[in-house]
Amino acid sequence: MIFQKNGVTITPLILRSMEDALLKETDGSAILWCGRAATALFWAYRASLNVTTETPQPEVILPSISCAAVANAALLARLKPRFADVDAHTGLTLLKHIKARYTRHTRAVVFIHLFGQTADLKPLAEWCRARNIILIEDNAQALGAKLPDGKSVGSVADMSIYSFNRTKLLECGGGALMLRSKEFVQALEQELRTCPITSEPDDETSSLLELSSRNLHHALVALARLRLQPAPKISDLFLRIRAPFEKLYLRSMKNPDVLAKAWQELPTLLEKRYRKADIYESRLAGGPWKLLNGWKESRVCWRYSLLVHFPDQLVSFSEAVRRDGFHVSNLYWPAGQFFFPEDVCPNAEAFARRIVNLWVDNSLDSKYVNECAESLLNNCKYSHITEAISDP
Ligand SMILES: *Cc1c(COP(=O)(O)O)cnc(C)c1O
Repeated sequence: MIFQKNGVTITPLILRSMEDALLKETDGSAILWCGRAATALFWAYRASLNVTTETPQPEVILPSISCAAVANAALLARLKPRFADVDAHTGLTLLKHIKARYTRHTRAVVFIHLFGQTADLKPLAEWCRARNIILIEDNAQALGAKLPDGKSVGSVADMSIYSFNRTKLLECGGGALMLRSKEFVQALEQELRTCPITSEPDDETSSLLELSSRNLHHALVALARLRLQPAPKISDLFLRIRAPFEKLYLRSMKNPDVLAKAWQELPTLLEKRYRKADIYESRLAGGPWKLLNGWKESRVCWRYSLLVHFPDQLVSFSEAVRRDGFHVSNLYWPAGQFFFPEDVCPNAEAFARRIVNLWVDNSLDSKYVNECAESLLNNCKYSHITEAISDP
């Protein structure tokens, strides 16, 4: 690859061994290094459009429980995002949900290994192949994770994307796109050649834009949670003011040396996370929630996640745990409500009203984990369980 524009970098020497390892475990042809996963997604979408059959209004099917960057990058690449519902107990999208969003305009499908959970992707890959649809694996939350058959995430789809940015497994900055076949590499080279060069915003501008984008997202999720406004109204507002944020999506890699070093420490880091997840599990078993346990099979715990049985008190419960000094997040929301509310996803909304994510990263130790578990148990005593939710 000879390009170094629009957020794409030729392989820095120091990343050669990481690149070789990723290509080996995914059986891929090439890796493109970028500043973030959103950039990798943008190029994955462009390559998908290049290799699939022309349609007047190309669409990509995304999981409804997702990160907004996945849909924003699609809009930038001129793909209309459509949203597939998810399994109410894992938040992972299934083939049946994807099938429900299929149209003759579908050109690509994104599967997200949400919170480090994985799934057998072979039936989905077969279904996509039969329709000349490109399958993209989003490994942002699942770096190093194993699929049910023991192979690595990224080993099934046509392309995969990685994030090494803040809040992900390696937090050193950067992203990557893995392309499985030489055909995709050629398609991408063509796209890179024809794409106009865009300049990146300076650090000050991007910090402010990121802050604005994050705050806007939080504000919209809170508003949507209240059900005081119909989803199309919120979506209209969001779509009308999102343009300035497009500056954020095409970014180039800044510190490959930090990533190369962090990559070497990944196995140790994942093991430490795993041990913290183990503590959470032993402390939280039997509480008024369902514990997500996909991390046991995939061996990667991005966040330790629970689905509470008291959705109506989710916000005050999270606030109480935060007041005790612990990180908890409940910011997942069906992305379709902001981008395309016609794609109603009831399971995704039920999931978003119950999900609590706990941190297991390097910044905290097992004492923190134990104390956080204690806080969760104390604070849920006062949560009035309004709905008996049965889990399979
Ligand atoms: C964070 C995230 C992204 C975007 O990653 P960036 O590197 O910040 O662009 C994409 N997909 C998922 C599932 C994510 O969690």
